Order: sequence, then structure tokens, then C-alpha cells
Amino acid sequence: MIKQFSIDERLYTAMHKCTRCGQCTYGNEEADFSLLCPMQIKGKFFTYSAGGVMQLARALYEGKIAFSESVRDILYLCTTCGACEVNCGVIESQVDLFTLIKKELVKNGIPLLEPHKMLAENILTKKSPYGGRLPGRHEWLPKERSEKMSSQAEIFYFVGCVSSYMETEIPNAFSSVLEKLGISFTVSDEEWCCGAPLYFSGNEEKVPEIAKHNVDIIENSGASTVVLTCPTCTMMFKKYYPKWLKRELNFEVLHSTEFLEELLRNGKLKLDTVAGDKTVTYHDPCHLGRGLEIYDPPRRILSHIKGIQFKELSISRENSFCCGGGGLLPTGFPEFSDDLARARISEIKGMGAKLLVSACPACKENLKIAAKKLKLGAKVIDIAEMVNEAII
Ligand code: SF4
Ligand code: SF4
Repeated sequence: MIKQFSIDERLYTAMHKCTRCGQCTYGNEEADFSLLCPMQIKGKFFTYSAGGVMQLARALYEGKIAFSESVRDILYLCTTCGACEVNCGVIESQVDLFTLIKKELVKNGIPLLEPHKMLAENILTKKSPYGGRLPGRHEWLPKERSEKMSSQAEIFYFVGCVSSYMETEIPNAFSSVLEKLGISFTVSDEEWCCGAPLYFSGNEEKVPEIAKHNVDIIENSGASTVVLTCPTCTMMFKKYYPKWLKRELNFEVLHSTEFLEELLRNGKLKLDTVAGDKTVTYHDPCHLGRGLEIYDPPRRILSHIKGIQFKELSISRENSFCCGGGGLLPTGFPEFSDDLARARISEIKGMGAKLLVSACPACKENLKIAAKKLKLGAKVIDIAEMVNEAII
């Protein structure tokens, strides 16, 4: 038996336990067992699924196949949506297991896809996947608001790269909510990309340094709570940073929807209504929903906005369908990423919903572009923007 890689015990167990049943690609009964796995949608064969990847890992381990660009291209079709994790009753943490195989691909000299290589270089050298081609990290922040910020604030707002550079309405709206509520907060120019793109591309060894840097700047600021509007950054702080740093963080980590829901619960945040059509639906971001099990806070926030007529998408919560924005898909396979976004946003056709709310900058970006291309006449908006509009 030729061992081509230093097998991790978790992966070894998983690849032997996988029964090849294929259930990981489908949603549950509530979703009418719809096909949810983007990788499977693209590849159609069993290999293009979590179970299939377990069999690939086994074949690699047993020396029946070699690490190759073909193996890489299968793995990078995974959006890290986590549908397999909630639908497989046999093994768990599939997405983390995939990163172990991606790590081995890198170690075995299989080059990253060119756009992923650039992304990784940008993160390592410029601390952002967008590199130096964009303006400064906090140029979205209005000067008057920036002048009122206190470096001693209790709340540290970790903005994240997509919000800082692309979907700047989100941090603008969220910081405006904080300002209107008189909550003192701070942001830092020292913020680095959370490292998720490096982790999900198989470069895990480079991420602990990033985790340490981001945790240090927050702990040194003295803030007791870090609030994030990006689910992927939130997942890094909640699930991965403590693991990489081998310790608990000295601050609380909350996604904006958890933070805003708490303010509603204790009566500090009061919402009225929003202008225009109030038929609203909500798209569960994969890393917020399946990744962190945060399903109810965004729905409860929406329920406080007067006049809202809320309609669930046909597949939602743990059965939600990926927007195509995860797992480096938009950089590696932009057309497929776009196909997934179109499929997801098309669901609102016939529902009468004119407003699709989400709670993730990457979801907003992908779904917004798809809605425009499909001429759906629907607006895609982040929940922070809704709250900013409805706040009394
Ligand atoms: S990963 Fe789980 S659900 Fe998928 S084929 Fe293997 S055992 Fe079945
Ligand atoms: S994380 Fe999503 S895309 Fe990746 S294998 Fe699982 S279900 Fe498929």
C-alpha cells in the first residue's frame, strides 16, 4: 500500500465510515429532498459530492490515484456550504476534512488555480484578498462618524474585506445603527483579512498568525465584544481562532444579527417600518445558518419591522441553497458561481417578494448581481440596512 499523504486520523476514520449513500447531497423531507450540493449539481457523478470526496481521499491514500489538477478541480467546486454536514448521518465536519485534502494537494506540488494563487498572495502581502488595487480599508466610514469613534470603546466592529471594499453599504448602515443608538464602537486600520480564503484553499499553516494578529488588536483595544457583519469572519472568530490559538478569546464574538436581536430584546433598539414594498424573504447565508446555527435572530429582527409580510423561500434554514459566493467559487469558477446565484434568486419568482434580505456581504454581492442579470426587479439588501432604515 503506497501512502501518498500523512493521513489525519479524522479523515482516515471518515473515509472508511462513509457508506457512499449519497444523502449528503440532498436536503431533508422539509425540502422535499431537493438536491443541495453545488459540487454535485456541477459534476453530476458521485465523485462530485462529500461522499465522493471521501472515496477520492481513500483512493489517494491507498495509492490508487495520484494528486493531480483534476482532483484539485473537483475539490474547488465545493462552496463550503455545509449542506453535506447537516444531511450526513454518518460522518461530520466534511468541510474541514476537505481542507485536509487541499492541504495535501498543496504539499504535493499541485498548484493552486491562478486566481486563488493571486488571492493568497494578496492576503499574505497586503492583508486583503483585493490587494492594493482598492482604496484604504475604512474609506467607507464617514469622516464625522470616524471622528466620534473612541479607541477605548466596548464594541469592536470587525468589518471584513467584502464589506470594507465591495459592499460598503453594509458597514455604513451597521455603524449608522450604532451611532443612532449612542453605542460607542471602534474599527481598526490594523484589521487583516480573517484568513478564511487561505484556510479553505488548503493553506491552513498560514492562518494562525493572522488569527493571532486579529485577536491581539481586539484584545489590546480593551473591547469586551467584537461584532461582525460577515458570517465567514464570524465563523473564523467563533470556531477556528480559539482552535488555532489553543485558547479562549478574551472577548465575546457576535454576528450583527445576534447583537441587534439582543438590543431588541432589552428594548434598546426599536424599529418602525421601511419604505416601499414590504413583502420580504430571507436567504440564510451558509456560514451563518449551517455553519453557526444562527437561523432565528435575523427572522426575529425582521418580525419587529412594522408592515413586513414575511415569506419563507421554498428551501431555507438548514435546507438553504448556497448563493454561490462561498468557498472561493467566485474567483475559481465565476460562471458556475453566477449559475448558483441565479438559481437561488430565481426562487423568489412567483412568491411576490420584492425584497430579499440576507446577512452576509458575499451573499448580497452574488445575489444582487444575479437579480440584476435576470431583471427580477427585486432588491437584495443586508439586514443591517433594513434596521438602519427602520430604526426609531
Ligand atoms: S458523506 Fe455521509 S451522506 Fe455522504 S455518502 Fe458518505 S456517509 Fe453517505
Ligand atoms: S460543503 Fe456544500 S458544496 Fe461542498 S460537498 Fe458539502 S454540500 Fe457539496
